Order: sequence, then C-alpha cells, then structure tokens
Amino acid sequence: MLDPPPVDYTHCPQCQTSLRGSPQFCPGCGLALSQKAAHGLDQAEDDIFADAAAATDEDEVAMLGDLRELVEEHPDAVHEALQHAEEARDE
Ligand SMILES: [Zn+2]
Repeated sequence: MLDPPPVDYTHCPQCQTSLRGSPQFCPGCGLALSQKAAHGLDQAEDDIFADAAAATDEDEVAMLGDLRELVEEHPDAVHEALQHAEEARDE
C-alpha cells in the first residue's frame, strides 16, 4: 500500500502547538494532520465492522457489538484511543 508522505507541519494549523517529527495527530487538540490520519479514523471504524461481520464466536460478536456502540456513542473517546495507539506505534 502506497501512502503519500505526511505533511511536515512545524505547528498545528488549528491550535499552534509546536510539533516534533511528523505526527499523525496534533498532541494538543487531536487534529488529524495528514490525509492518512483522517482516513485512518474512518478505516478503523470500518475494520471493527468488518471484524464483526467475520466473527462467528458468540462472545466475540457480543464484544464487537459493544465496541460498535461505543464508537457510535463516544466518537471522541475512540478518536483519543486511536491517537494513543498511533503514538505507541511511533515509539
Ligand atoms: Zn492542534
């Protein structure tokens, strides 16, 4: 999969937090700083639903159903969790 290189921001265009490296998200306000990051949020949601469709185990289906509700009810919390996942992956 070919992704375009991330845009090199030195400051967040939204909150002016100074940025080091090429973060996918602003550490200050959580703004998605690349197309890929913005896209990733949608993709992560799609992945959850794809997993749910593929799951056959009853417990797994129930768990994924809960997760789906969580995404729908608390998109900000999910966004934040995904941010942390991105940060952990970069380290
Ligand atoms: Zn920001």
